[in-house]
Amino acid sequence: FFAMNTYISMTAYGDQADSVLEEAESRMKELEALWSVTEENSDIYAVNHSNGSPVTVSDETAENLSFALEMAAETNGALDPTIYPLVSAWGFTTEEHHIPSDDKIQEMLSLVGYEKIRLDENQVQLPPNMMLDLGALGKGYAGDTVIQLLKDRGILSALVDLGGNIQTIGMRPDGMPWRLGLQDPFGGENLGVLSVSDCAVVTSGNYENYFIGEDGKTYGHIIDPVTGYPVESDLASVTVIAAEGKLCDALSTSLFVMGQDRAVNFWRQRQDFEMILVTSTGEISVTEGIADQFSPADNEEVDVIYR
Ligand code: AMP
Ligand code: MG
Repeated sequence: FFAMNTYISMTAYGDQADSVLEEAESRMKELEALWSVTEENSDIYAVNHSNGSPVTVSDETAENLSFALEMAAETNGALDPTIYPLVSAWGFTTEEHHIPSDDKIQEMLSLVGYEKIRLDENQVQLPPNMMLDLGALGKGYAGDTVIQLLKDRGILSALVDLGGNIQTIGMRPDGMPWRLGLQDPFGGENLGVLSVSDCAVVTSGNYENYFIGEDGKTYGHIIDPVTGYPVESDLASVTVIAAEGKLCDALSTSLFVMGQDRAVNFWRQRQDFEMILVTSTGEISVTEGIADQFSPADNEEVDVIYR
């Protein structure tokens, strides 16, 4: 089915699988209705049109936003849930892409800054004209919610695919790990195969949504909150592997903003995720904790990143 701007497919094994998957589908649609930036009844819409007044939001929205703010601080603002005015100025919300003037970018930059969000339990307050967008981590959070629901209903083996965000429960029914084909950011067949169980795998890159400007340059949908321009990364894609989808989703976007060196330093400071980087020149590197589980297509060379 289609939700959260993407095609979602869910596979579960077990006696109750059919009815559990139906429940999961409605749960996903409930979350979409809370977080949509365009649906007038959504929590996010209410906050974005509150003109500076406090708004009471659902538990799910408050939790998602609270996690987004935590990750914004931990990534030093590489992830910024108030980036929406810029995403919109570059035309990524309407698919009417264009290069904004420098003045416009400066104006929109003054409306970006996650530190200005006030979150007190279920109450959110945002200065006038600022806008929230949980697009960088909503799918991961929704994936976690659905995975938990399937586990609560006794499912021991499942794979949820939210437009390329993959989350799994257990092993395949034949007792083997799930084998995931990773997308080649340059449009070739597969980058390689990753064998996993019980985890989330999320990829970000500007190849997913971009346009070519009047100046002939390529501009992608992930924006650098410092410059206001689409990230000109030395990376083509970042895949993050971790226990939870929301961490993977938040990190894949922000590590892409950081670029290779900062992403590797960030990984070295933490113990809670692994990653696969593809540089803009096509080199693949994988962190040591996942290296054994990744086999590149065509026996391509892979660098291992050590701690
Ligand atoms: P993802 O596909 O998870 O990497 O998320 C990309 C989406 O997040 C974009 O389409 C924008 O809506 C939004 N976005 C772009 N840049 C940022 C950023 N620096 N921080 C947070 N969200 C962003
Ligand atoms: Mg993301």
